[in-house]
Amino acid sequence: MIESPSKRVSRRTVLLAAAGAAPLLALGAGAANAAGLPQTAVAYQATPKDGKQCDQCNFFIAPNACKSVSGTIAPTGWCKLWVKKS
Ligand code: SF4
Repeated sequence: MIESPSKRVSRRTVLLAAAGAAPLLALGAGAANAAGLPQTAVAYQATPKDGKQCDQCNFFIAPNACKSVSGTIAPTGWCKLWVKKS
């Protein structure tokens, strides 16, 4: 069976797209909090607030990162996004 040129281009495009996306996916996995919100945007502070702190928050990634906020996050820190760890 002979493939039409458009079908070949389509398959090639898909393969190229997959090859191009792989490094981006790897980069994303390695830099989980690189795209997080700036600390200033969420009023991050390195000290607890009203008894709430990062290591009790659902977004905290031990030992010092956050799923939602960029940069180094202290376990004793706090910000406006705080959500009790489930
Ligand atoms: S309170 Fe939660 S969302 Fe805010 S910086 Fe700490 S771990 Fe991240």
